[in-house]
Amino acid sequence: MGKTDILESTIESNNLSDLESLHIDYEKLQGRGGAFLISPVDKGKVFSREQFSEDHKMFDQAAKEYGENRLLEVREELNVLNKDLSLDIFKEMGELGFLSTDVPEEYGGLALDKTTSCIIVDALSSGRNASMLVTASAHTGIGMLPIVWYGNSDQKAKYLPKMASGEWMGCYALTESGAGSDALSGAATAELNDEGTHYLLNGTKIFVTNGAWADVAVTFASVNGKYTAFILDKNCDGWVVGEEEKKMGIKGSSTVTFFYENCKVPVENVLGKVGDGGPIAFNVLYVGRYKLGVTTAGGSKYIIEGALEYATEREQFSRSIKKFGMVQRKFANMVARVWEGDSINYMITGSIDSALAEVDKSADNYFDIVQKTIEDHGIEASISKIVGSETLAYCTDEGLQIFGGNGFIEEYPMACAYRDERINRIFEGTNEINRLLIGGTVMKKAILEEIPLRDAIAHRMENWLPELNISDDEPLFLEARAIEYCRSFMLFCLHESILKYGQDLKNEQWVVEPFANMVIALAIMDTGFKRYNQLDSGDHKDNTLQVLSLSVADQYDSIIKNGLDIVNYLFTGEKHQEKVDIINKWQAATGYTPNRINSQKAIVATLYTHNKYYLN
Ligand SMILES: Cc1cc2nc3c(=O)[nH]c(=O)nc-3n(C[C@H](O)[C@H](O)[C@H](O)COP(=O)(O)OP(=O)(O)OC[C@H]3O[C@@H](n4cnc5c(N)ncnc54)[C@H](O)[C@@H]3O)c2cc1C
Repeated sequence: MGKTDILESTIESNNLSDLESLHIDYEKLQGRGGAFLISPVDKGKVFSREQFSEDHKMFDQAAKEYGENRLLEVREELNVLNKDLSLDIFKEMGELGFLSTDVPEEYGGLALDKTTSCIIVDALSSGRNASMLVTASAHTGIGMLPIVWYGNSDQKAKYLPKMASGEWMGCYALTESGAGSDALSGAATAELNDEGTHYLLNGTKIFVTNGAWADVAVTFASVNGKYTAFILDKNCDGWVVGEEEKKMGIKGSSTVTFFYENCKVPVENVLGKVGDGGPIAFNVLYVGRYKLGVTTAGGSKYIIEGALEYATEREQFSRSIKKFGMVQRKFANMVARVWEGDSINYMITGSIDSALAEVDKSADNYFDIVQKTIEDHGIEASISKIVGSETLAYCTDEGLQIFGGNGFIEEYPMACAYRDERINRIFEGTNEINRLLIGGTVMKKAILEEIPLRDAIAHRMENWLPELNISDDEPLFLEARAIEYCRSFMLFCLHESILKYGQDLKNEQWVVEPFANMVIALAIMDTGFKRYNQLDSGDHKDNTLQVLSLSVADQYDSIIKNGLDIVNYLFTGEKHQEKVDIINKWQAATGYTPNRINSQKAIVATLYTHNKYYLN
């Protein structure tokens, strides 16, 4: 019997009398990836910026000041390729410690938590320059992390101190012309020379961020069919750097092709072991994804600010355009989307940090544990990437619309932002690939019982609205029920899809995509509610309430649309009616009828009082 069959039969055989034995210990899910899939809104906590420590706040302040005082001043100059200035800034960032948070102290790093690394790139968004953030993020993430995680002590000692300080820049060369999303299908090869001293690399890598400026590259090639990671540096003969690409956006960052022409890499520069290339290539991408979620959600705050500044000054029909309802609705939606991204991002870093809090940093297997913990949060990392990049896309599009014709003119900031944001839905795994990963990983977690999804499905088959420890006179009681309904609907769709397709579900993209959308919407609602619920009473909590109300209303619609797409596709005839009746019965039982316009009006009123995104 395969694992899927076990999942199916166990769920099928559960009846009400078995449910008592299916006790789920939600406490144990703290720090586990995917916990939000099953933990009700009254169980489990999430980390959020309201819980930043004094050290977190210090880094936040320092990076924000650097962004506002240094990056903002040279923002225009950094929007075109400017190697000298970019390298100066890069070195300054190194001196300020912004590049070394993930590097162990013995190699010149600060060895700080994941939340701090994210706070830094988030706060640097105040410099409003996407190109420089891409340069710094490629270095600290995909460029340097493979050496931190997989390097031996000699490799770490040779490369990390100079990379942490900003003296050397790193890059990551994986993509080939025939191997993009299917990243491990690359044709580059590496052959050991007769003396056994060097590997000779041959092949071509494309789209390498930082490529023309980098001193060190982590790259990949097959050794007798075994995909392997290598560290290249400027001493490797045969590493040929191509021309700069002419790009649509992030024009101030370097993107080039590498040609390996018998490129001579010392054997001691194999990263990990021969054949370890696959996990090395993929594991660092999880971090790249949630960091991209942070920079994009962070950047969106400044899009709101820029659009609001313009809307305040621009008059049509004898009044400021910010007074028009249709403009106001755009602002309200932007604020809600940004808050959702921000909530998701720190929920993830907090969960990873809490899982790692007790682990001994000096233990030999410390970085194994770090990788496994981050991999365990793969669903969340993909959600962060999707939510952040789609939030920035939404905000930039609406921001440009608020600028009217001026939005289309290069002299104004929205045109550049519009071009810059587009890449975020493509690199670090396209958003399609990330949706595939979400669907596939939820299924894997169910089948391998990494979290008790099976028990949760069994619990909820009979009762979609479990009793909550939330009083019915609480302001968000109905929202809480709506979220639990959505959680049950998502689990219902997972169950029905697995019953229909078994393990092949991961290949049924027509179903996987709407299912991933349900998971994303649920993560947003669940995280937002838990973040709100933990706040102290006061203005901040009241302001958050308006945003959460709109967020839940929007995500609820997304769950119902995507869930019905799945159910309407999976079933026909009487079976279909039976399933739709179940869905409708429980939906009616929620009693939830959102008043979206009231929430939007309240959000705009608060935004106009603060004149900027106000939930930081
Ligand atoms: C500016 C820039 C910087 C970059 N920086 C780096 C870098 O530093 N290092 C590096 O190694 N790479 C880098 N890349 C490469 C980037 O990661 C890839 O472009 C990306 O992964 C997509 O691969 P691709 O371009 O080959 O698109 P393809 O894989 O050809 O995809 C084309 C379309 O098909 C869809 N698609 C593909 N496979 C599937 C599937 N299985 N199911 C559903 N849809 C699918 C995709 O979502 C996409 O919409 C960069 C790219 C750019 C443009």
